[in-house]
Amino acid sequence: MAAKSKPTIDRKARAKLSPIPAQERAPEERTTDFDEIVVLYTPEAAQAEAARCFQCPHAPCQEACPLHNDIPRALALLEKGDIAGAAAVYDETSTLPEICGRICPASFCYDACVLGKMGKPIDTRRLEAFATTHRRRTQGVPLPEVAPATGKRVAVVGAGPAGLTVAEMLTRKGHEVVVYEQYPLPGGLLMYGIPGFKLDREVVEAKIAWLEQLGVEFRCNTTVGKTISFQTLEEGYDAIFLGIGAQQSICPNFPGQDLKGVYPATEFLIRANLEPERLPAEWQVPLEVGPRVHVIGGGDTAMDCLRTALRLPEVTDATCYYRRSEVEMPAHEEDYEHAQEEGASFEWLTCPTAFLGDGEGRLRAITYERMRLCEPDASGRCRPVPITGSEFTVEAETVILSLGYCPDSTLTGKIPGLEVERWGTIEVESRETGRTSVPGVFAAGDVVRGADLVAPVIADARQVAETIDAALRA
Ligand code: SF4
Repeated sequence: MAAKSKPTIDRKARAKLSPIPAQERAPEERTTDFDEIVVLYTPEAAQAEAARCFQCPHAPCQEACPLHNDIPRALALLEKGDIAGAAAVYDETSTLPEICGRICPASFCYDACVLGKMGKPIDTRRLEAFATTHRRRTQGVPLPEVAPATGKRVAVVGAGPAGLTVAEMLTRKGHEVVVYEQYPLPGGLLMYGIPGFKLDREVVEAKIAWLEQLGVEFRCNTTVGKTISFQTLEEGYDAIFLGIGAQQSICPNFPGQDLKGVYPATEFLIRANLEPERLPAEWQVPLEVGPRVHVIGGGDTAMDCLRTALRLPEVTDATCYYRRSEVEMPAHEEDYEHAQEEGASFEWLTCPTAFLGDGEGRLRAITYERMRLCEPDASGRCRPVPITGSEFTVEAETVILSLGYCPDSTLTGKIPGLEVERWGTIEVESRETGRTSVPGVFAAGDVVRGADLVAPVIADARQVAETIDAALRA
């Protein structure tokens, strides 16, 4: 029988089709709650948007995706109305497609789409979120085949994107996997770091429930290195995977940093975004937040802090203070735009020098100094230097420090022979193998890369899971 030929794509006709980007809720409405701001496509709108795809050979969108999702094939199925078929295409290369479709920045598949050169790119991320969420809600996510039991046991430490990926991959290969998580619920950064207005907790909870059905066991409220020892894991498991992330806020020692009202970004986001019953006991008391909030830093997390603050009833103003200019700000454009739309203010070229108290241990004001940028240094970045005599003081009741993140050393400091790098990231043979300096111990994700985006972390973790599987079978 002759091979089926691919349908001819009339690109000229497709280029004339109107874009149907996913809708966002109006800023004045969305700042009244913590619900997702992006409205999920309807099946009809998704089909129409997918029908704009040129089905490019050597698709740049697929190339730009860290997981190399076969986006053109998924969109061809969506165009035909085969939503579950499209979702299954994402499953082939991604363990968390519902999540990536919501939180990946535009800079991967979306910005790479060729239609961006002649108008609006295909809304690839939101179509991925639509296909996978619609399938789950209407028919459930099918459980994959699980290989016969190998009798090998793997401990996964940390239930964030890397840990969940490794747990899924190794369970499918027939190994027994137990995931240890320090917080009351699994999900790591997905549950405790990313605000609900970007990623609904329902999506994360559904994935956890699905993994439990698959056979993954979660042991929460368990900090390895504190609640149980690392040696206990060494004795009970054939391999150990470390996916503890890098969620510890780096806080330079500003005078007055111990005042009430000064929060590291991680603590602020966790406590402001989740109900007390989902938090560790020490964080169940309500946050003390005043009307004027300052956020120090200019990354995506700083934008999340601003937007979270603006959703709190006590807050009237949220201002970002960044020591470089708008051009150097590391936040993705989309996050910056969302923060602006929701009412955040920005002060460039300013750096705090001290936090001032009210005499009763609470933050009253912050002293800043103005900065100027030097010529770019060897790294190509313009270093900010203080302008003498430029200090000024601004009243504020709350300040959030979003100045970088590193792994928590509670565990890594207690593993004999484990080599770590500057800022506490774990040294590995390569990101592909994830082999650490301790035999039988593997690592991937932010604890290796430093704080990074979710899709590259999943890509690493998938490869490391293959290495662990091979090591267990050797
Ligand atoms: Fe379709 Fe754009 Fe990808 Fe081309 S680059 S295959 S048009 S989504």
